[in-house]
Amino acid sequence: MNNLLKLDKKYLWHPFTQAREWEIDLSPSLMITRGRGIYLYDSRGKKYIDGTSSLWANIHGHRCRAIDASIRAQLNKVAHTTFLGLTHQPGILFARELVKISPAGLNRVFYSDNGSTAVEVALKMAFQYRAQSGKPGHPVKLEFLALKNSYHGDTLGAVSVGGTDLFHKLFKPLLFKTRFAMSPHCLRCPHNKSRRLRDLPREVLAYRYNGETPKPGDKRPRTDCRWECLKEVEAILKKHGKNIAGAIVEPVVQGAGGMIVMPPGYLKGFELLCKKYEILLILDEVLTGFGRTGKIFACAHENVKPDLLCLSKGITGGYMPLAATLASEKIFRAFLGEYEDYKTFFHGHTYTANPLACSAGRASLKLARAKAFLTGIKKLEKLFTGLLSEILPLPFVGHIRQAGLIAGIEIVKDKNTLEHFPPSLRIGKRICDEARKSGIILRPLGDVLVLIPPLSIKERELAALVGNLKVSMGRISYEY
Ligand SMILES: *Cc1c(COP(=O)(O)O)cnc(C)c1O
Repeated sequence: MNNLLKLDKKYLWHPFTQAREWEIDLSPSLMITRGRGIYLYDSRGKKYIDGTSSLWANIHGHRCRAIDASIRAQLNKVAHTTFLGLTHQPGILFARELVKISPAGLNRVFYSDNGSTAVEVALKMAFQYRAQSGKPGHPVKLEFLALKNSYHGDTLGAVSVGGTDLFHKLFKPLLFKTRFAMSPHCLRCPHNKSRRLRDLPREVLAYRYNGETPKPGDKRPRTDCRWECLKEVEAILKKHGKNIAGAIVEPVVQGAGGMIVMPPGYLKGFELLCKKYEILLILDEVLTGFGRTGKIFACAHENVKPDLLCLSKGITGGYMPLAATLASEKIFRAFLGEYEDYKTFFHGHTYTANPLACSAGRASLKLARAKAFLTGIKKLEKLFTGLLSEILPLPFVGHIRQAGLIAGIEIVKDKNTLEHFPPSLRIGKRICDEARKSGIILRPLGDVLVLIPPLSIKERELAALVGNLKVSMGRISYEY
């Protein structure tokens, strides 16, 4: 096994990894040899809780019997055939099932193979739709609207609408124009300097964000919030709407930006603004889809209906690379014409709609459609909230945010000012390295610890996950 690790260091270039650290850092390089349920096993046989769901993708655990069987059955027929000009049963049936569970109006499924391509497809569809349905003589809409702190993938179109400078800044000269509105991040809201909201649970926040005027004697917490974040969206749409082909947002949780949970009401407000200014709404549910936030899709929390919906990660239960972009019939119709009209959507990937992946997706979705699935997540979500509340009082914990089975724990140098530790301290990484010793695999986002367990986790396992993390947080030194 040491030999294999040597080969790894000789031949590989790992994603989102500083190769120099990877090379010298022999001990934490883990080689995973197998998995079962929420557990992963390394080459020494040590067992770990998969606290990141193998990068936010796994839903029903590893070696899930129904998904294994579904892939095997398909493997006995054929592993891959193209979807360009041909079709197959798993691709057809899975599309019907996806349409059934999606917000009303989304009737067409366009497959690809990862979250970034799901976003690329949506952006290109929006652009082409606008180009083809504009009145003759009208300028082409060249811009998009997105949010700061957003993350939509690593291909250049997805990077163009990405609002995370750390990943995206360098590539700016290569990107198309995007207008960024402020992130709906109440904790660090420049308009709410008192920050009285920061420890309040979501339900309490809900009172304050629907624009109502408090009645005398109303003891509910207040802020001076005037929906400045939505006002920024509106200002952009008002001024530049005629040039904007679409607006893209991660509903409820901005994932890679730091697991930032939006205040309730924001998403609905965003949708209404898109309607008002006739802008196509693209929802990126690559992270939040398939039960992660407690509903099959996060947009259902506020009954929001997008024009385009991007899905990946959990779509196969975290088994195989697959993605889908769902589009409304209206958008689909605008691409119909004679071949020589060139209204065709000229886009597709070699492994588009891979039959093994579609089979995995069908089996995973069947499990997710069982009644007990969402009620189970609700129960876990509640328990999770309780467990996380025991982490909040720890020194250096600035904020905890949660939506369903997603949690972000923000580590800060000062609980009052919320100032961060210097990046060179690698505080997030050091906590996660420590946690690994106690048998949990986590990957931080800078100074935000991220907990995203498989949705099949049991109550006592969730308690062990949070409990072990708490102990690990107490073990490392915060001196610098
Ligand atoms: C992970 C992610 C992507 C990109 O998906 P990949 O499969 O890694 O390309 C896009 N959008 C969101 C919200 C994500 O979390």
